[in-house]
Amino acid sequence: LGIDSPPRIPSFDYQPRPYKGPSADEVLEKRKQFLGPSLFYYYQKPVNIVEGKMQYLFDESGRRYLDCFAGIVTVSCGHCHPEISDAIMEQSKILQHATTIYLHHAIGDFAEALASKMPGNLKVVYFVNSGSEANELAMLMARLYTGNLEMISLRNAYHGGSSGTLGLTALNTWKYSIPQGEVHHVMNPDPYRGPFGSDASKYAKDLQDHIDYGTCGRVAGFIAETFQGAGGAVELAPGYLKLAYDIVRKAGGVCIADEVQSGFGRTGGCYWGFETQGVIPDIVTMAKGIGNGLPLGAVVTTPEIASVLAQKIQFNTFGGNPVCSAGGLAVLRVIDKEKRQAHCADVGSHLISRLKELQQKHEIIGDVRGKGLMLGLELVTDQKEKTPAKAETAHLLEKLRELGILIGKGGLHGNVFRIKPPMCFSRDDADFLADALDYSMSKL
Ligand code: PLP
Repeated sequence: LGIDSPPRIPSFDYQPRPYKGPSADEVLEKRKQFLGPSLFYYYQKPVNIVEGKMQYLFDESGRRYLDCFAGIVTVSCGHCHPEISDAIMEQSKILQHATTIYLHHAIGDFAEALASKMPGNLKVVYFVNSGSEANELAMLMARLYTGNLEMISLRNAYHGGSSGTLGLTALNTWKYSIPQGEVHHVMNPDPYRGPFGSDASKYAKDLQDHIDYGTCGRVAGFIAETFQGAGGAVELAPGYLKLAYDIVRKAGGVCIADEVQSGFGRTGGCYWGFETQGVIPDIVTMAKGIGNGLPLGAVVTTPEIASVLAQKIQFNTFGGNPVCSAGGLAVLRVIDKEKRQAHCADVGSHLISRLKELQQKHEIIGDVRGKGLMLGLELVTDQKEKTPAKAETAHLLEKLRELGILIGKGGLHGNVFRIKPPMCFSRDDADFLADALDYSMSKL
């Protein structure tokens, strides 16, 4: 059925440094002893990563892996991309920290460059340190600007792990039994699992119903990822955001696009995920890919919305740190110089067609979805019932690792492969991944 012999990782002209650090067992032991426990282990035994170069990672033995998950959708341009590393190094020699009470050009330069990537009147930038912080700030702005309290997010969404954003998140695997903070979770326009398929208008009707029956009729804001990440690489039904934004604005709310995963050209052809839905949000939040791995996040909004924060001290100790700003500016430069949006569109469409071919061969593939290098492969044991193939996904994850591939897993049932590699991922890499899936699925 599938290919007979294990595929080989594409050649790559780079020699990792000799590694003399602690063994994987020693690192794991220390992690267990001194770091908080969590369910968030993908592998039976985690890989000990000691070096990274572009789309590849190396373990302690010098073995090379193709990184199909970019950290967690974070390494946008490539691990230790030389231009970005140089920018970080240079800035760290000159000034590593200056708060916003002083002037330093790196912050303004980066804010200007970021604003130039935004459509409409989205021109005011706030820097924070993570996606959760960005969404906290966006929620605060929405509430202050509208004078309303209630927020709306989509079921299956992930917007962060801080106490406020956990209320927006709508996946029980992440949540605790704590107050939700005036958040309503509306039906997810998921073309594969949603009851209305790709019919955006029916999901929009559910949003309207929630506003009509579950709120006072006025809302603060609506937040959505255009491509749900942790929820399993779900691409929202085409046209949904346009309808949703109209409904929310009529109810007095502002529209927030969470671009933490889908921003910076990853979806191919455009810079932001929301462009694929033909909308312009009122507030955009971003993190992860913005810094190619540096701890950095941002909120971009309009001058009108930003004005609500002007009468208070809006302060964040590390937000806009000069080293992070220099790194972020280099990321924007690299994306343009290396034409990463077009590259994602090209490699992504090649990979999608390879995955769709595999779907014809392997019944376990229930759905192939996404755009650019923001793809999902949902595995099911029964095509009709769409029963999540949870154990099989975990098994295949280990098999792919044996072949030299690290990949993301997600969705409420852990049955979706999330394919979101660094944007330098090549057609050869895509073929290697498709061949490795073919090979390991044929052995199930
Ligand atoms: N929003 C989305 C879409 C995310 O995927 C994440 C993290 O995975 C967050 C927000 C939270 O970002 P952070 O982990 O940087 O707080």
